[in-house]
Amino acid sequence: MSGDIRELYQQMIMDHNKNPRNFHALKESNRNAEGYNPLCGDHFKVFLQMDGDVIKDIAFEGAGCAISKASASMMTTALKGKTRQEARALFEEVHKMLSRRIGEVFDASKVGKLATLAGVCEFPARVKCASLAWHTMCEALEPTGKQVTTE
Ligand code: ZN
Repeated sequence: MSGDIRELYQQMIMDHNKNPRNFHALKESNRNAEGYNPLCGDHFKVFLQMDGDVIKDIAFEGAGCAISKASASMMTTALKGKTRQEARALFEEVHKMLSRRIGEVFDASKVGKLATLAGVCEFPARVKCASLAWHTMCEALEPTGKQVTTE
C-alpha cells in the first residue's frame, strides 16, 4: 500500500469503528443471521428488512475487532436500498478484492468506498475479520441454514 492509501485505510477503519453506522438491532427486520470468526472472536448479527427484493433497511449488532466492525459498518451503508442481486454482486466483488493475491489488481470502481478495505489482503489473518459481516449478510439474504463461520 502506498502511504496515502494506508492513511486513508486507517482513518476509515478508525472512523467506522468509533462511530459504526447502522449499529443496532432492527425491529422491523424480517431476515437476520449470525456469524462468527472464531480465529479473532468477532461475532455479529446482521438484520435485513426486505421489501420484496429490495433491502429497505439493514443494521448489525455484536462485537469484534476494529476491522470486522468497520467492514460491517461500511457494508450496511453500501447495501441500503440495493436489490438482492446487487447485494450479491457487490459481495462477489468484495470477496474477490479481499481474497486476491498481493499485487493482483482489481476493479476498484465496482466496489466504491469499500475499496479502502483492499489493503486488508496484505494481512491474511484480517481477511476473515473483514469478510465476516458479508458472509453473514449473505446468509440473511439467502438462508442456507448453515452456521456462518469463517472457519
Ligand atoms: Zn477480527
